Amino acid sequence: MGFETSKKLYKEAVKYLPGGVNSPVRAFKSVGGDPLFIERAQGSKMYDADDNEYIDFCASWGPLILGHNNPVIQGKVQETAEKGLTFGTCTEIETELARLVVENNEYIDKIRFVNSGTEAVMSAVRLARGYTGKNKIIKFKGCYHGHPDGLLSEAGSGLATFGIASSAGVPDSFAQETIVLPLNDKEAITEAFEKHKDDIAGVLIEPIPANNGLLIQDKEYLSFLRDITQTHNSLLIFDEVISGFRVGFDGAAGYYDIAPDIITYGKVIGGGMPVGAFAATDEIMAHLAPEGDVYQAGTLSGNPVAMAAGQAQLIECLKEGFYRQLESKTLDFLEPLKEEIKSKGYPVQVMSIGSIFWVALLTESTKSEHIQKASQIPDEGAERFKIFYRYLLENGVFIGPSHVEVGFVSTAHTDPDLEKGRKVILDALAAAYE
Ligand SMILES: *Cc1c(COP(=O)(O)O)cnc(C)c1O
Repeated sequence: MGFETSKKLYKEAVKYLPGGVNSPVRAFKSVGGDPLFIERAQGSKMYDADDNEYIDFCASWGPLILGHNNPVIQGKVQETAEKGLTFGTCTEIETELARLVVENNEYIDKIRFVNSGTEAVMSAVRLARGYTGKNKIIKFKGCYHGHPDGLLSEAGSGLATFGIASSAGVPDSFAQETIVLPLNDKEAITEAFEKHKDDIAGVLIEPIPANNGLLIQDKEYLSFLRDITQTHNSLLIFDEVISGFRVGFDGAAGYYDIAPDIITYGKVIGGGMPVGAFAATDEIMAHLAPEGDVYQAGTLSGNPVAMAAGQAQLIECLKEGFYRQLESKTLDFLEPLKEEIKSKGYPVQVMSIGSIFWVALLTESTKSEHIQKASQIPDEGAERFKIFYRYLLENGVFIGPSHVEVGFVSTAHTDPDLEKGRKVILDALAAAYE
């Protein structure tokens, strides 16, 4: 496999784009080497500029639940694009997609579309503050919510203290409105509510944390968050940018049957186009402009072509048995992988929920732990991962280039794809551990 053309394109890209990319995760910084330049994709496969073929488990970081270049989505997008790309005023398809989502999700009454997951979370946080009249947001180490200023913060020293900025360009005064706590730690939450009782606008969580490994939480813990927020008149915000329409049509809220106050969406909801959304009950959404006094807007929000892609994808997702089949396909893929790993004795765990999976490269001392917190993921895994990742790429399997990125199975993955994927993953583990 040659990567010469990708190398050349990357060299050109760095002249005009910072780091050669438009999103830092694409830069291969943690695995070494240059990023691939993709030329085209079809179904489960991507083809790079050197015409190498990859079975893709990254799925554009999650949106592509039907795989690449799905003909139904393509058809709908092209038909819509022919009528014009944007009008800056109302179109029927916005209502159609809103109706499709709301009528199939008992936790929300109204939805607003935006252009990315970041925008969705940023707006949801503003809405929570506007609705409650409070300022602070609790978030968790190991959850990612896009890059709104106040959410780029790390835990300060000690529990229930204010956050400190984790990016240059974020004033500490912004980061201090965020309280960063470890996942799966009830005491930390209780302490934070005691300390800041009248000023916590909301608790923001990825109910299925999937941006720093796959840190599946107990339902009981999520219920606890539901109760404690209710007790203190603060809101529970589920960031379902990954889990929404991925673990079920009604996302993690439906999966756990827990009603959050606000839910954010992104990724799958756009069918591969830039779409985000946030949704809540009528009562909460009434606080949003133009009805209410929480301002939020967007030139291209609800863009008809983007709505068309989302609608086409979600109609497929709503079909009877869609999620059941995708989950059982994922388990059929992973179960034999787990057994092989066990018999080889690698310090590796394979976690999954729905069609999301994570091959966790651990250590002897951590390999049997129930991993639910970011702090349980050993750094040593990152070193092994470099060898693992290089092997995957050179043998035609593409996943996100970091040891804490999850993978996604789509309806486009065939049995032979999954068989090959499994074999290459096992060989890559052998390369990393033997
Ligand atoms: C991807 C992601 C975001 C950010 O979405 P963008 O579209 O990249 O801005 C926010 N929250 C979660 C949980 C995500 O996975």
